[in-house]
Amino acid sequence: MIEEVKRFLDNHAVHEEVESHIPLAPLTSLHCGGPADILIRPKYMASVMEVLRIGKILGIPVTLLGNGTNVLIPDEGLRGIVLLTTGLKQIAVKPGELTAECGVSVNNLCRTAAGKGFKGIERLYGIPGTVGGAVLGNAGCFGSEISDTIAWVETLLENGNIYVFSKEKAGFSYRSSLIGKNSRMITRVCFSLPERADPKLLGKTHQEYEEMRRTKGHYRHPSAGSVFKKPVTGRKSRYYGMSAGELIEMAGLKGVSQNGARIAEYHANFIINPESRAHSSDILDLITLARRKVEEKTGVLLECELRILQENGQPLNLQ
Ligand SMILES: Cc1cc2nc3c(=O)[nH]c(=O)nc-3n(C[C@H](O)[C@H](O)[C@H](O)COP(=O)(O)OP(=O)(O)OC[C@H]3O[C@@H](n4cnc5c(N)ncnc54)[C@H](O)[C@@H]3O)c2cc1C
Repeated sequence: MIEEVKRFLDNHAVHEEVESHIPLAPLTSLHCGGPADILIRPKYMASVMEVLRIGKILGIPVTLLGNGTNVLIPDEGLRGIVLLTTGLKQIAVKPGELTAECGVSVNNLCRTAAGKGFKGIERLYGIPGTVGGAVLGNAGCFGSEISDTIAWVETLLENGNIYVFSKEKAGFSYRSSLIGKNSRMITRVCFSLPERADPKLLGKTHQEYEEMRRTKGHYRHPSAGSVFKKPVTGRKSRYYGMSAGELIEMAGLKGVSQNGARIAEYHANFIINPESRAHSSDILDLITLARRKVEEKTGVLLECELRILQENGQPLNLQ
C-alpha cells in the first residue's frame, strides 16, 4: 500500500515524506495508542488535497491529527493514512486580522496576535492544540471560546472542493461546531481582531493564564485535558450544572487507577498517564467506569469531550 501511495504522490508532484508503521503514542498528549500504517506530514496545503485523493482512490481511511491533545488512539493503531497537520503553519497578517493554516499551534497564534498588538484571543493561550483541532471542537477556556473572534473557516469538502464557512454557518456551540459534519478538513481560519492593546500587556496575560494552568496541574502528567464536557442544564437530575470533575469526585473516583492510567487526584476530569505505560484500553475503561458510576449516583450521563478514535479513524460514540 505504501508503494502505491508514494507512486501516486510522486506522479502528482507531491514531494512529502511518506513513512510507515509510525508509533502514534509520542504524537499524542496521552502517550498511548498504536501505530499509523502510513504517516504523512505535509508542509504544503496543495499536498493535502492529493493525500485525501489517494485515500479515496485506494479506498483507505485518511485520519487527521493535529497536536494529538484531544484524541485517544486505539491500541491497534490507525489503518490507512494519518495526515499530521503540524507542518501546515503559515500565518498571514493584515491590519486587525490573522489567517492561520490549520496546523498553527494555538500558542503561536496567540503570540503572533500579541506581537502585533491584536487583542481578543489572549485567554486561549495555553491550550496545547492546533488551530484545526481547536476550531473543530470550538475549544475554550476562562470564559473565552476560539469561535469568539472567527471571521471565516476555509474547509475541504469530501468531493475535494473548497467551502468557506462564515462564523454563522459554522454553527459553533459549547465544544462543538457543524464543520466536522459538513466538511472533510479545516484548512485555514481567519480571525478578526480589530481591538488593540499593548503587546507587552498581552504577553503578560499569556504568562498569567499559563501560570493558572500550571497551578491547576494541567501540564504535570500526560493527559488530554478535560475528558468530559460540562453537563448541560435543564434536564431532570438536580446535579446538571455541576462540573464533570465535581460529579466524578462525588462518585468517589479521584485517584482510581488501572495499569498506570489514573483519574487525577488534583483534577477529577483529567485522566492521566504519568509513566506513559498505560494502554488506551485502560483509559477507555476509566472513562466507562466514570460514566457508569456518575450515572448511578446522580442520573447524569457524561458526554466525552475527548475524541475516542476507532482503527478506521472514525470517532467511537459511547452509548
Ligand atoms: C493539558 C491540556 C489542557 C487542555 N485545555 C483545554 C482547554 O482549556 N480548552 C479546550 O477546549 N481544550 C483543552 N484541551 C484539549 C485540546 O488541547 C483542544 O481540544 C485542542 O484544540 C485540540 O487540538 P489538537 O490539534 O490537539 O487536535 P487533535 O487532538 O490532534 O485532534 C482532535 C480532533 O480534531 C480533528 N482534527 C485535527 N485537525 C483537524 C483539521 N485541520 N480539520 C478537521 N479536523 C481536524 C482530529 O481528527 C480529531 O478528531 C487541553 C488538552 C490538554 C492536554
